[in-house]
Amino acid sequence: MENKLLLEVVTPYGLVLSEEVDEVVCAGSEGEFGVLPGHVPFFTTLKIGMLTYKKGNATRYVFVNWGYAEVEPDKVRILADSAEKSEDIDVERAKAAMKRAEERLKQAADVDFTRATSSVERSVTRIQVAERR
Ligand code: ATP
Repeated sequence: MENKLLLEVVTPYGLVLSEEVDEVVCAGSEGEFGVLPGHVPFFTTLKIGMLTYKKGNATRYVFVNWGYAEVEPDKVRILADSAEKSEDIDVERAKAAMKRAEERLKQAADVDFTRATSSVERSVTRIQVAERR
């Protein structure tokens, strides 16, 4: 696997993907970072965002909901709360989740603001990632 990276995305719901790729770009909590084969090992946290990877001429997109990235010279391992490949995103479900969260935010008083805004952020990002398929 010289000059390749094994990209693994794992969530509590199961293995989302395990592929040999050429390049990975992640939404780190401190900003976006790219990984090429041979990268120095590091460990970092991720935010709600889009992971992009290149395989030959193809670029693919994955929704990632928080978590960690473990980088080794020949491997990128993502441990996320949830994640979906762009083609597996159910856009109607994301729109419904966004509507529910927005309704909750309108009710003001008792609402868990952080939870509702995270839900909106997940929905918006899922819709953006689905558009890139
Ligand atoms: P919902 O309110 O629709 O469940 P959520 O953001 O609360 O959305 P998560 O807790 O992030 O959902 O994920 C729960 C499970 O459902 C995970 O397996 C995740 O991959 C899957 N999932 C959630 N939303 C979608 C979607 N729009 N399309 C495909 N799978 C989804």
